[in-house]
Amino acid sequence: MKRGIQLSPRCFLCGEEAETVNHLFLHCRITNILWSIFINSKGLLWVMPRNIVQALKIWSSFAYISGHKERWKIIPTCIWWSVWKERNLRCFQNKSNSIQKMKMNCLVLFHFWCKQEYMEDLESVMNALDTL
Ligand SMILES: [Zn+2]
Repeated sequence: MKRGIQLSPRCFLCGEEAETVNHLFLHCRITNILWSIFINSKGLLWVMPRNIVQALKIWSSFAYISGHKERWKIIPTCIWWSVWKERNLRCFQNKSNSIQKMKMNCLVLFHFWCKQEYMEDLESVMNALDTL
């Protein structure tokens, strides 16, 4: 490393790009799988914005398509918390979850934040999307 130049380490999720905030939370192909769960549940045409601020602003502007606007608005935070936990699992414990487990964890978290109920069965997890 040259003096004065800080290199970003590789993304712990995909290992393909430098780990920046915008990459990790918006543009990483692994993170995009989590975004797709919610985007696809509403058939939303979505182009990922360049940065977090734009993403939150645009995401909130689509809250009208949800029957529960407050639930819609917590989705980015739910995705980011899931991604951050997975990133830290990989970074500090040298462990990883499968993408299926990551999706399940994200939906379980979403359901918990919406209803303060813990669920584990797949049917309940999938029904969480119906509450949007
Ligand atoms: Zn990545």
